[in-house]
Amino acid sequence: MIPFASPERGYQKHKKEILVAVERTLDSGKYILGPEVERFEEEFARYCDVSYAVGVANGTDAIELGLRALGVGQNDAVFSASHTAVASIAAIERAGATPIFVDIDPESRCISPESLEEAVKITKLTSLVPRCIIAVHIYGQPCDMDRIKTIAGENNLFLLEDCAQSHGALYKGRRVGSMGDIGAFSFYPTKNLGCFGDGGGIVTKDNIMFDKLIQLRQYGWDHKRDSQLSGVNSRLDEIQAAILRIKLAYLEQDNQQRRALATRYMDQLSGLPCKLPKAQPNTEHVYHLFVIETDKRDQLGDFLKDREVLASIHYPLPVHMQTFYQNKYKSAVSLQQTEKLTKNILSLPMFPELEIQQVDMICESIRAWYQR
Ligand SMILES: *Cc1c(COP(=O)(O)O)cnc(C)c1O
Repeated sequence: MIPFASPERGYQKHKKEILVAVERTLDSGKYILGPEVERFEEEFARYCDVSYAVGVANGTDAIELGLRALGVGQNDAVFSASHTAVASIAAIERAGATPIFVDIDPESRCISPESLEEAVKITKLTSLVPRCIIAVHIYGQPCDMDRIKTIAGENNLFLLEDCAQSHGALYKGRRVGSMGDIGAFSFYPTKNLGCFGDGGGIVTKDNIMFDKLIQLRQYGWDHKRDSQLSGVNSRLDEIQAAILRIKLAYLEQDNQQRRALATRYMDQLSGLPCKLPKAQPNTEHVYHLFVIETDKRDQLGDFLKDREVLASIHYPLPVHMQTFYQNKYKSAVSLQQTEKLTKNILSLPMFPELEIQQVDMICESIRAWYQR
């Protein structure tokens, strides 16, 4: 069986190093907010080319606390693609703000600048205050940041990057997370940089944001443990941080491997009547997911399963069509491209330990399906 993702293979690959780090951490007697978290934060900030990183409990909290640090809350409109993990939208609600769904560009599958502009214009006519854009770098592909930054600047909006699927991706040579006001990351096990439990991180270049985030993640405390604001408990623990420090050292190599596998998929699938992902110019895609588009994707998924290949769908429903959300928010703009894409997407197995021969075998199966 070829799994869709395989965090345990990532563990097996670095087992010795990881177990040494876990043992060192357990022996240290420091389990929460100690030296491992501090070092990981320094190393991750350097990697992302920003001044500060703050470890938190998961990626959803990273977005919520990022928004709260920016002062986004009640009565504020936050613009996001609906084609994303529900977490992006749940975090907006948790911050007390209102999500405004925006359509995607069918090539990059990221937020469409035109649709964004239209949504901002329409929202200005309502009682909500346009405050922030969430740029989700979906599947490992950076958004069109120049245009999004221009729209943010012209409309006085904050920009938060949801980098949960794009650790290490580049846009015009710049790391994702370093271009907006805040970058939010998840370290869920299957992400490009993942630990063996829940974990998240927030990056920023702004020291005021950093101070606020440090307080927000722990009861609003200042260094004298006096609560200065309404905080939460959202901490990255020492064991996960120790593991992440090891995984971070291999992230470039792992992303390189993902790109090599993506290239192989594209070579082997070329000429078939399915649409392949296309890295946008001036970006370095990190292929968190390798997503093809084809009608009858459910049948293709079943066919692959019979041949012991597990594909998946990200996501079966865009957020605005999910039960809780569909009646709650009226979308300001057409989400036609989002709804069209949702019906045709299929995520093929993609993880750094996947073998080239396995990719070939998967592609042969897909070829056989089209020729059956
Ligand atoms: C995984 C993910 C999140 C949420 O991360 P959790 O750690 O599961 O809370 C947010 N946004 C996107 C785009 C994701 O893929």
